[in-house]
Amino acid sequence: MAEFNYRCSTCGRRYGRDEVRYLCPTCAWDYFPGSPLLGVLTAEFDLGRIRRKFRRSDPDWSLFSAVEPKYHPPYAMGWTPFFRAEELGRSAGLASVWVKNDALNPSGSLKDRASFLVAAEAARLGEKTIVAASTGNAASSLAAVCAAAGRRAVIFVPRTAPRAKLAQMLIHGAFVIPVAGTYDDAFRLSLEFTARHGGLNRNTAYHPLTIEGKKTVGLEIWMQNGWRAPSAILVPTGDGVIIAGVAKAFEDLRGAGLIRRLPRLICVQAERSDAIHSYIKTGRYRDARNPATVADSISVAAPSNAHLARAAVLASGGTSLTVSDREIMVGQRTLAAKAGVFAEPAAAAAAAALAKLRRAGLAGAREQVVVLVTGHGLKDVDAALKGLRIPEAIEPTSEGIERAAARLKRGGDQR
Ligand SMILES: [Zn+2]
Repeated sequence: MAEFNYRCSTCGRRYGRDEVRYLCPTCAWDYFPGSPLLGVLTAEFDLGRIRRKFRRSDPDWSLFSAVEPKYHPPYAMGWTPFFRAEELGRSAGLASVWVKNDALNPSGSLKDRASFLVAAEAARLGEKTIVAASTGNAASSLAAVCAAAGRRAVIFVPRTAPRAKLAQMLIHGAFVIPVAGTYDDAFRLSLEFTARHGGLNRNTAYHPLTIEGKKTVGLEIWMQNGWRAPSAILVPTGDGVIIAGVAKAFEDLRGAGLIRRLPRLICVQAERSDAIHSYIKTGRYRDARNPATVADSISVAAPSNAHLARAAVLASGGTSLTVSDREIMVGQRTLAAKAGVFAEPAAAAAAAALAKLRRAGLAGAREQVVVLVTGHGLKDVDAALKGLRIPEAIEPTSEGIERAAARLKRGGDQR
C-alpha cells in the first residue's frame, strides 16, 4: 500500500491521496491558463517508514512509489545506463563526469517515467483515457505506455513537433491533435479538453505524479553511484518538472536519512527559452517572450512548474545556466564524439553547459558532475543534420576507394 499525502507547494495545505487529483483546490483559484501553475502538489511519504524498511541489500523501491506495483503497466522502462565519460570530462576540464543516459528508455526519453506512473494511477482509478499536451516526448512516451497498458492516449501537440515524434505517437495508436500554435497553447487546450470531455490529464506538473514518476531517475543515480549523491547534476530544463523530480528523489532520500547532503542541481535552459533561469537569477518571474530554439523539447514561454523548479534549485545550493542554439549543437556533437551518446538537442543542452561549468567557477575540477541525457538524437535527425554534411558518394570502383582513402588521410573529419 502506497502511503503518502499530497502537500501544496504554494500554501502548504495537506490532502489525502484521493481528496485531490491535480492542483491544490484553494491555490488553483488564482491560476489562469498561460501562466506557471499555482498549487502544484507534491507527494509526502512517511519517511520514517522508509528509513525503517529500506535495505540496500534488498531494495524495496515500492516504498518510494505513489502507486502500488499491482497497477504498474507492463512496460519495461528505467534502469538506464549510468557511466563515467572520461573523454567528455577531459574536454570540459573536469576529472569526474558521468552520464545518465535516459534516452535509452523504450520511447527514447525520460518521459517514460512519468507516463508509466500516470498510467498506473489511471489503472487504479479505472480511467480508460489519458490526455496530455506535449512538445513531443511526453506524448510519444504516453502513446507507447498506453499501448502497453490497453488505454487510450489523447494528445495535443504543436504541429511543428519533429516528425519522428509524431510517427511514434501515431504508430502506437494515440489520438493525435496537432495544434497550429505553441506548446503553451497545447497545454491550455488539453486542460480545457479534460474539463469538458473527461479522461485523466497527464500534463506535466498539473498531474502531481509526473514529478513522482521522474523522481525515479534520481533514485537510480543514487543507487548506480554506489548509494551516494553526486556533487552536481546538470538538468536540461523546459517546464521544470524533470528538475523537480530529480530534486524530490534526493529530498526523500535525505528525509529518510539515506543521504546527508543534496546534489547541487544545475538548471540548463536555452537562451531564448529562459523563464526559469531568469526567475532563479532575479527572483522575479517573467514569461520567455519568444522561446524558439532548436531544442524543441525545452521550448516553453510559461513553464508550468516554474515555482517549484526554482525552489528546488535554490534548496539544493545549485544554480542556472543558459546555452545558445549554437552551443547546443556543438554540445550535441561533443557528447556524440566523446561519450558515444547521440542526444536530441534539448538533452545536449546539458552537455553544452558542461563546457561552461569550469569557466563560470561553478564546479571544482575533481567534483563528480552528472550529465542527465533526457532524449534520443534519433527523435530529431533533421536537427542533427543541420550541423553535418553527408559525404559525396564514390563510384563503385577501386579509384573510388582510393579517393576516399585520400580524404581519410587528410583528416577525415566530416562534421
Ligand atoms: Zn495551496
